Order: sequence, then structure tokens, then C-alpha cells
Amino acid sequence: MSKVLVIGAGGVGSVAVHKMAQNPDIFSHITLASRRIVSCEKVAESVRARTGVTIDVAQVDADNVAETVALIERVQPKLVVNLALPYQDLAIMDACLATKTDYLDTANYEPRDTAKFEYSWQWAYQDRFKEAGIMALLGSGFDPGVTSVFASYIKKHLLDRIDTLDILDCNGGDHGQHFATNFNPEINIREVTAPSRHWEGGKWVEGPALKHKQPFDFDQVGEKNMYLMYHEELESLAKFYPEIKRIRFWMTFGDAYLKHLEVLQNVGMTRIDPVIYNGQEIIPLQFLKAVLPEPSSLGSTTRGKTNIGDIATGEKDGRQKTVYVYNICDHEDAYAETGNQAVSYTTGVPAMIGAALMLTGAWKGEGVFNIEQFDPDPFMDMLNAHGLPWQVKELDAPLDF
Ligand code: NDP
Repeated sequence: MSKVLVIGAGGVGSVAVHKMAQNPDIFSHITLASRRIVSCEKVAESVRARTGVTIDVAQVDADNVAETVALIERVQPKLVVNLALPYQDLAIMDACLATKTDYLDTANYEPRDTAKFEYSWQWAYQDRFKEAGIMALLGSGFDPGVTSVFASYIKKHLLDRIDTLDILDCNGGDHGQHFATNFNPEINIREVTAPSRHWEGGKWVEGPALKHKQPFDFDQVGEKNMYLMYHEELESLAKFYPEIKRIRFWMTFGDAYLKHLEVLQNVGMTRIDPVIYNGQEIIPLQFLKAVLPEPSSLGSTTRGKTNIGDIATGEKDGRQKTVYVYNICDHEDAYAETGNQAVSYTTGVPAMIGAALMLTGAWKGEGVFNIEQFDPDPFMDMLNAHGLPWQVKELDAPLDF
């Protein structure tokens, strides 16, 4: 029986709160706070209609540490679940430190003025969290999150040694819009326009953004082009699994999405430095976000499935083996259950699961932890029980690309 405070009432926050409300034995009291109270009220209404559970709502600017501290002191949660934007991570961690409250998030910190995401800023809180006797769980979404837990599961049960790991993220959904992103457009566009980077032979190998293309036949989705990209779980997996010689991340994109992105980049609309417009400073990418469809509005029209998983090659009982662990999630099923499409669903469910494991004490510790540092088994069981079932396949041969 525990009180939880969720910050961020976007698509991911909405799914997480719906799933928490479905588990009242663990989440006995839920408060949802966001920059705009109206975002929280919409979610609260849907939660009440779908589950019969009433949640509390609050307004907070999570960039403001004092405001968040005051909210935490008022609500007295056992855990703060940060589902706002990566920009707020450090401010919310500071508020958790000040109030000695556990912390969880799904995306690592990014400064607003540089498209650079890395764990160093959050790992720097290790000693302070330890001294305060509190725990931070970083990256409890799908990727990072489930894909990192899949790697731990592979290491624990399927391979004695992992030599190569490829994370394949396919969204086979179609939302019917010319151009839209499935989660926060600003964060999404910053991520996909960054240079590609993968881990090989103990160092990072960089390449141009979205240039290394590879077709792949995804179960229940079909063949799609996927592109080599940098993604934040590569950094923590390289740190916690130093035996892995090569770790890569691939994401699928359709030709129309890439064409729109290329044009937007060429005309300067993805810039994150300020420009003066009508005497006022604006950031082009933030303006672009304002004219694009809200990801949370895509749920009702999105059809198709996501298929995200890990392919690992290594050794088991002296034999070379390649295994594939993946989840398939249907956009329409996710929408029917929570009113949100599968990209929010596949992130919000693991956020709820990580929170449940912290609140029940199944995962505990003092300091700052990445998700792959914990026993994968209870998390994998909960994925099966809470809407994200996974499967394991043995492949005949390692990937040939
Ligand atoms: P949205 O943009 O839909 O929602 C973000 C929410 O945060 C909004 O409700 C917004 O407020 C709120 N917010 C923004 N700034 C503040 C602030 N200063 N104080 C309080 N609230 C604020 O994003 P998503 O729901 O799609 O994504 C949420 C998080 O999940 C992001 O960090 C994203 O990077 C991460 N993510 C992780 C994935 C993974 O697999 N690990 C995959 C997808 C997303 P309001 O509406 O009230 O104005």
C-alpha cells in the first residue's frame, strides 16, 4: 500500500497512471501532477471512467525545484515517477534529494540548448542518493527499459557470454498523418537527427545520422527499413556488460517520414538555437512542435503493431548461439485499454512495473541505478501479466550485417 506521485501527464504518464489504477493493491494512492492542470484532469477523468479509481491532480512546474519540493512535502509519496521531459530530470532528482524520496524515470537528462543525452549528469548523483538513503531507477521505459531488461534476461538464462547485442525498434503503426512523431516531437527529432553511434571493440564508432540502412523482416509487421542510431541504453549496457564486444541500436522509419525530416532540417526548422522572429526569440524546433499533431492525439487513428526486441549472439554451454527476445504491441489494443497508442503504452507499462518493483521492495538499493542492474525475472513476469507479453526465438545464425 503506497502513495505515488507521477509528474508529467502526456501519453506516457497517462498510460502509467491507468496501469497503476488497475493495481490498487500496490498503488493505493496516486497523484498526477503536470505543468498544466487540464492535462492531469483529462487523464483523471479517463482513469475514473475506465477503472473506477479516483486520483488526485496537481499543477507543478517541475523545472522549479522549490515548487516540486513543496508538492512532494504536501503529497508525501513513497516514490516520484518522472514522466515529464528529459529536461526536468535533474530538477526532479534535486527535489527527491531534498525530501528523501525515491525516484524513477524513463529517459536520461538532456540540456535544452545542446542535443546531447548521456547518463553522466544523473550518474553524478550516485553519492548524494546513497548518503540520503534513497534510490533512483533510471530508464524504466521500453528503450531504455525493457530492452535493457531483455539483455539481463539473456545473460541470466539464455547465454553464458554475450558477444554482440542488437536492439531492433520497429513501429509498424500508421497514424494517417503526413508527418507526426509518436512521442514528444522535440525530443524525438533531437534524437533521430543526432549522429549515429555504436559500441564496438571497447570504443564508440560514430557515423552520419540515418545513413546506415538495413531491411529486416519483423514478426507480425513485415519487412521494414531500419537505421543505425545512437540510443541512450547503449551507454549503460556498455558500462554494465563490458563483455559485449558490439552493441548497436536500430530503428525503423518510413520513406515519407525521412523525406519530411530532411526538408525540415534543410530549411532550419529543427534548429535548437534561438532565432529572432517579430522581435521575439523563438527556438525553431519548439515552434515546429507547436504546429505538429500532439502525439497523444494520434491514438484514435493509429493502426498496426510495434515489434521491439534484442538479438544477441554468444555462447551457451560451449556452443555458439543467437537468440531473439521481443515484444509485439498492437496500437488499437493499447488505445482500447488506455486511450493511448502503443508507443506511449510500451513506455508507460514498464514505468508502472519499475515503480511496482520499487514500492514492493522487490528491487531495492541506495544510490542511482540503471534498470539492467536488477534481477530481470520479476520484471519479465510482470510484462507478461500487464499487457506486454514477450517471446524468445533461437535464430539459425548470427545477423549477417
Ligand atoms: P509528452 O510531451 O506527451 O508529455 C510530457 C508531459 O510532461 C506533458 O504532459 C507536459 O505537460 C509535462 N511537462 C513538460 N514540462 C513540464 C514541466 N516543466 N513541469 C511539469 N510537467 C511538465 O511526452 P511523452 O508522454 O510522450 O513522454 C514522456 C517521457 O517519456 C519523455 O521524457 C520521453 O522522452 C520519455 N519516453 C521514453 C521512452 C522509452 O522507451 N524509454 C519512449 C517514449 C518516451 P503539460 O501537458 O501539463 O503541459
